[in-house]
Amino acid sequence: MTVIMQEFPLTVGRILDHAAKYHPNRKIVSRSVEGPITHTNWANIQRQAKKLSQVLLSMGVQTGDTIGVMAWNTARHFEVWYGVPGAGAVNHTLNPRLFADQLVYIINHAEDRLLMVDFDLIPTIENIWDRLKTVENIIVMTDREHMPESSTLDLLCYEELLEKQDGNCEWVEVDETAPCGICYTSGTTGDPKGVVYTHRSNTLHALASSAPDMLGLSSNDVVMPVVPMFHANGWSLGYTAPMMGSSMVMPGRDMSAKGLYEMLGFGVTFTAAVPTIWMLMLQHLQSNNLTLPTLERVIIGGASCPRAVIETFQNDYDVQVLHAWGMTEMSPVGTVCTFKPEVTALDASGRLDAQGTTGHPPYSVDLRITDDAGVEQPWDGNTSGKLWARGAAVVQRYFKQDSDAVDKDGWFDTGDVATIDENGYMRITDRSKDVIKSGGEWISSISLENAAVAHADVAEAAAIGIPHPKWDERPILVIVAMPDKSPDPQDILALVAQSFAKWQVPDDVVFMDELPHTATGKISKLELRKILNNQGYELP
Ligand code: AMP
Repeated sequence: MTVIMQEFPLTVGRILDHAAKYHPNRKIVSRSVEGPITHTNWANIQRQAKKLSQVLLSMGVQTGDTIGVMAWNTARHFEVWYGVPGAGAVNHTLNPRLFADQLVYIINHAEDRLLMVDFDLIPTIENIWDRLKTVENIIVMTDREHMPESSTLDLLCYEELLEKQDGNCEWVEVDETAPCGICYTSGTTGDPKGVVYTHRSNTLHALASSAPDMLGLSSNDVVMPVVPMFHANGWSLGYTAPMMGSSMVMPGRDMSAKGLYEMLGFGVTFTAAVPTIWMLMLQHLQSNNLTLPTLERVIIGGASCPRAVIETFQNDYDVQVLHAWGMTEMSPVGTVCTFKPEVTALDASGRLDAQGTTGHPPYSVDLRITDDAGVEQPWDGNTSGKLWARGAAVVQRYFKQDSDAVDKDGWFDTGDVATIDENGYMRITDRSKDVIKSGGEWISSISLENAAVAHADVAEAAAIGIPHPKWDERPILVIVAMPDKSPDPQDILALVAQSFAKWQVPDDVVFMDELPHTATGKISKLELRKILNNQGYELP
């Protein structure tokens, strides 16, 4: 049969072209790393991104070369986000909070030829420079005035390089299945693993995740990604927002509640971050009697969102919470909690219960749960199992590994444990390595933690299993109290007991000043176990 539809390669340059042509004047407000608030739009971002791709080509960057980018969420980061793949190269996002050894490992492993770095992060690179094997040049993402001095490094100035170009060029043509970006998993155990996104996977992922039942973005939205662009593909907002023609507010490196609140003031309607950020924001709003006049929706994911956060946003500030689950390996959106008709039909408390789940997947993501033997488990909202995923933007094989990360039917083992209910709403109950097994039964550590943080004087909670001679493991709770509070452990356990069977209630409550976190802000249970071990912790 003759093919009669046009070829339209799904390359990400076309996303920015669309924004620049059909939404040219949409505002991009940004807190620059240099300090001042800057104002630009999609047309200017496109011009700058094209200039950058000219710079890269003039420096000899070849199709498929990897470029490490260590930068905060600013308008300039967008220029790089598109300029790098626009030159046919691969954007390797670098998390400045990684340990030095991990940074060295991933830069060498990805064979980054060039680094592009915000000026305040140059000391991080100086620190590891003598261990980097492939980097030839460093471009500092600033103007001449703010160029740092370095006795170790030869530094090139971004704005100076761009000034010499005219931006009159086409994007380098690549196949839609060519690599576009690479992001390493945070690697709490073993070395980080690289996930390579293609132009096609990023485009399909953005199309699917911006649909009304997912993020529901439009040209009327003003989107503020608080989640860093270096974390899990920046939750793809760098693609979804321009694809939908949204305006954007970029908060820069100031992640304080006060700093973020100031940026929300630029008319933000939609924002995204992990629960910890929003807990701090709610405290800030409450103690300063502030309101959120323009904000309509907030997407919360990366870790389980406590019910109290959802309730407070919705009841006190009239902001809808979209609880979501995803992974670096999934580009990253896996599920978003919006209301299907079955949930809309519930009363307010039923809808809130549904929001404790992470919702349902977009088209192009497929999920299933199985027991350890691989037998598929029922969707009854109770039976938990290993969560598997497959889809158009789900990893097939980690970078430079010899074998696939999926089983023979193409299912990727997410490492999460979940339930799915009759309406297809998925609830994460654990990481499989964190699940607590007591007397052969599983106890969800995430549910215990959510129950504990419902106590007004508890700031953060971690539930872990401690070896037990009779029951194999028993749960304990590690608690960080709110500032100047000292909650009674029995009160916390009594609160937990309201929603758990007696045998599931933790045997002990241990207080700590802070919990150990990974570079992406998740509680590191591995570290926590080490700390408790070092302290000679034993069950009471
Ligand atoms: P990352 O690739 O760093 O984004 O980490 C992905 C992991 O974060 C998932 O496999 C989950 O274990 C966890 N995660 C993400 N979103 C949620 C959520 N809403 N609730 C519970 N865990 C989550």
